[in-house]
Amino acid sequence: MRRGFKTEAKTLALELRAEIGLDAYSPFDPYAFAAEYGIAVVQLSDLDGPARHHFLKADGSALSGALIPNGTGVVILENDAQPLTRRRTTMCHELAHVVLEHEFGVSLSDERKCGLSGDQEAEADWLSGEVLIPSDGAFRLARANATDEQAADAYDVSLAIARWRMNHSGARKVMQRARAKWA
Ligand SMILES: [Zn+2]
Repeated sequence: MRRGFKTEAKTLALELRAEIGLDAYSPFDPYAFAAEYGIAVVQLSDLDGPARHHFLKADGSALSGALIPNGTGVVILENDAQPLTRRRTTMCHELAHVVLEHEFGVSLSDERKCGLSGDQEAEADWLSGEVLIPSDGAFRLARANATDEQAADAYDVSLAIARWRMNHSGARKVMQRARAKWA
């Protein structure tokens, strides 16, 4: 990941949230953001048989999402058969690639990874995390001793995403250090 990217992502995520009228403390709405940015979102269930089949793997599993170039823009294809919390992560990951002007034509199968490698993938992953649970929000939750479950509920994300953000945004570590110091 590029040096300084995490700091930039913190600010950028708050700006992206502000564009749809959200502060750091409410769940992000990737669909409202896509609409605001003029990014079309297509659901896998809307595709007809042969097109849908193209995105399904041989073992019956499917991709989570994909960025598909469309003229000068891009379309996000999302697998609407997956749970909504998972879909929101997928959407944020793909939106992060768009916002960061990464290569198109990538698809996502894991909750947090797609075909891209290296910096672009690491940056999209980190930015989507900041968008889903901003550092400021994670700190507020850590101050209130929130559990991962409470963080997941507050931001409408999966438990895995909540745990990742609470532990890797630095929020809990900083709070623990502060408490140890003042205890
Ligand atoms: Zn990606």
